[in-house]
Order: sequence, then structure tokens, then C-alpha cells
Amino acid sequence: MDAKELIAQANAQQPQLIAQFKQAVASEQLAHAFLFTGPRGRGQDLVADWLAMRLMCRNVTADGQPDGMCDQCQRICLLYTSPSPRDGLLSRMPSSA
Ligand SMILES: [Zn+2]
Repeated sequence: MDAKELIAQANAQQPQLIAQFKQAVASEQLAHAFLFTGPRGRGQDLVADWLAMRLMCRNVTADGQPDGMCDQCQRICLLYTSPSPRDGLLSRMPSSA
């Protein structure tokens, strides 16, 4: 998944949350920390990645979206969408069931 796909998926999966974050960033009233919780598959990671891109992006679009093309967006996308070395360790751990 590239940065533009990640941005599009975050907007498609959690449009209301993205709108709230856009408003919070635009009004400079962003909390100092966020906890993304909930059942799997609800887009917590996507929204967290989107927020990281929005805060670090060098070329935010007129409608408050990260561009997905600058070096910061590319780095965040690569960092958060790459498999972690821990992923292999977790799959090799014996199941507790
Ligand atoms: Zn960017």
C-alpha cells in the first residue's frame, strides 16, 4: 500500500473521524495524545497513520489532506506499513489454546 492509498482508505473507512481530526488540526486544538482502540478491522491503524502524515506533511492540500507524495508522507507510510521483525516472532510463538 502506498501513501496515497493509505490516505484514501482512511478517508473511506473513517470519514467522520478524519473530519474531526482535520478540524482539530486546522483550529490548532489537537490533544497531546490519542489512544486508538476498538475491535480489529475498524481502521485504527489507518487513522493513526493518516494523522501522522497530516501532522508531518510538507504539502497539505487545500482541503486539509496530506499529499501522500512528500518525503515525510513516504517515510511514515513505509514505517507503518512495512512488516515488523516482531511479526515473524509472533507467528512462531506457540498458541495458548
Ligand atoms: Zn506529504
